[in-house]
Amino acid sequence: MSLIDPKLAEILVCPVDKADLTQDVEASRLECTECGRRYPVREGIPVMLVDEAEGGP
Ligand SMILES: [Zn+2]
Repeated sequence: MSLIDPKLAEILVCPVDKADLTQDVEASRLECTECGRRYPVREGIPVMLVDEAEGGP
């Protein structure tokens, strides 16, 4: 089970550091492997905005 389209997941990166993201299906979030910011996914659409992200440095 995946949160978003696998093809979309392949091209998405963290807007801050361009690092890969991991999917947290239960929390409906994408988590950056580098800075740890968590981006919400709303109705299958990832919200890749730093202002909307949780966590990080
Ligand atoms: Zn990041």
